[in-house]
Amino acid sequence: MIKNIKTISDFNFKNKTALLRTDFNVPVNKYHKITDDTRIQYSIPTIQKIISEKGKVVIISHFGRPKGFPSKTYSLKFLIPILSKILKLSVKFFENCIGKNVEKKVNELENGDVLLLENLRFYKEEEEENENFAFELSKLGDIYVNDAFGASHRSHTSITVLPKLFQEKKCIGFLMQKEIQFLNKFFLSKKENRPITILLGGAKISSKIEIIENIINFADHILIGGGMSYPFILKKGGRIGNSLIEKEKNKMIKIEKILTKIINKCQKKNILHLPKDVIITNSFNNTKTTKISSIYSIPDGWTGLDIGPSSIKYFCDFIEQSKTILWNGPVGVFENPNFSLGTISIAEKIAKTTEKGAFSLVGGGDSIAALKMGGYDKKISYLSTGGGALLESLKKKVLPGIKSLILNNN
Ligand code: AMP
Repeated sequence: MIKNIKTISDFNFKNKTALLRTDFNVPVNKYHKITDDTRIQYSIPTIQKIISEKGKVVIISHFGRPKGFPSKTYSLKFLIPILSKILKLSVKFFENCIGKNVEKKVNELENGDVLLLENLRFYKEEEEENENFAFELSKLGDIYVNDAFGASHRSHTSITVLPKLFQEKKCIGFLMQKEIQFLNKFFLSKKENRPITILLGGAKISSKIEIIENIINFADHILIGGGMSYPFILKKGGRIGNSLIEKEKNKMIKIEKILTKIINKCQKKNILHLPKDVIITNSFNNTKTTKISSIYSIPDGWTGLDIGPSSIKYFCDFIEQSKTILWNGPVGVFENPNFSLGTISIAEKIAKTTEKGAFSLVGGGDSIAALKMGGYDKKISYLSTGGGALLESLKKKVLPGIKSLILNNN
């Protein structure tokens, strides 16, 4: 997956300016306080390498969805204190990302300086794969570095068009390198890393069904939980009551087609595992109305919102015997304490199995939030910084941001 791509270790940045694309699209609360700084923390080694070699760093990133207009809400300025604190230097900022004034500011940088530019998405051209916008950005550095895994599934100017203007002088940073290297533990697995277990949950199957189709090729166990499991149960003749199911016609046709393929393929190898029981309710906010039901016979008017105790044990047994584990998506409506036990139990089991020597990779905001709820996040081998990018990679798609870095591909 990393063939014909330069990494940051292939360059020495002395007297050079790195144009570093990061993904600083960090989650913030209503007071604009960062609720999870993982993406910033993970980008620090790349910045440190460049400045320790006496190079200059010009950081470009997006934040939120300002839809092509400058706005205070989406300014990247709020990152200056945290970046300066972690890097132990005074990070500079400029309130634009292209133009003569930015170029002047870049030219004034000294070796070891770090300059953060304003949100790329203040220009609508960022999301349009725009050659002119890319050309303007390309004036700001000697070497292009992509460390924005979380944005690398997007065909946006700074991800796909910009690197092409740097010919051989482009590479991935340490964060990207880690994400690719850890994903390869699944794609290019060695015998000693097996069994490989992949657990997928979440609400909707349409966004993840192609992943299942691909991971059948290398996973030893695929565990499906949450709303994702109901299309399988229906297909097997079960009754799911009022449980979640996608009803949009186009999506249903696509799901149906791939489901049949998956089920046929899995009949040969028994690797696809569905929940056995679920916690059902006929009143979302009242615990008194919850009960355990077989997932195959949920009464009308009742909704399955978490996996039940037998399913927890069933899934946890697979996790416990695994050497390599990937988890994306909650197995229930974990935001509600009445339906969070399944997801928290999974988080705990993955953390404990990691402590015993397994490798674990967890991605997606909800799964990471569930790990944090239980205090298990520090025990996981690697928390992916990409939600959508991780899912796209699992479909065996070479991300646009990686493709554009392949040498001799222009
Ligand atoms: P996704 O964005 O597809 O990963 O879905 C995440 C959401 O799935 C979370 O907000 C969960 O509350 C929700 N979810 C998980 N299991 C279920 C379920 N059985 N029924 C409805 N929603 C669910």
